[in-house]
Amino acid sequence: MILKIVKYPDPVLLKPGEPVTEFNDELKKLVADMFETMYDGQGVGLAAPQVAVSKRVIVIDLSNKRDPEQKIVLVNPEIIESEGRQYGEEGCLSFPDLREKVVRAEKVRIRAQNTDGEWFEMDGEELLARCFLHEIDHVDGIVFLARMSPLKRSLNLRTIRKLQRDGNW
Ligand SMILES: [Zn+2]
Repeated sequence: MILKIVKYPDPVLLKPGEPVTEFNDELKKLVADMFETMYDGQGVGLAAPQVAVSKRVIVIDLSNKRDPEQKIVLVNPEIIESEGRQYGEEGCLSFPDLREKVVRAEKVRIRAQNTDGEWFEMDGEELLARCFLHEIDHVDGIVFLARMSPLKRSLNLRTIRKLQRDGNW
């Protein structure tokens, strides 16, 4: 089922998600719906708060549905290590059509649970590291606007307010 993606500044995007404690069919259904919603929106990552579910759940697929082996589900994710620095463009399904350069770590190691509650660790570099960090920010209630320089943040906020006023957001 395709879920509705909420846009900034919906309050659900700005508060930390609740940890998942029950690894049941409801969680598996949420994950399946999140993949469907992400593919429909042509995104490579989606966090539960973006579909108005305030939980620490993330789906990622850098292959955009082309390679099933690249599907990643992170439940209750944490960053264990990060190193380096990369500067590159990001988009977000909760900020339609907005793209902006953001500084992120170049490499990260994360730990998370799968939908059965089993913990695992995973390394990410470059785009995958960027994606991990962007999505983990979402479950912490942080949007990428907060990671921009103050100047870019105010320019983008102005653009968003104008789009909202014109009914195009
Ligand atoms: Zn996002």
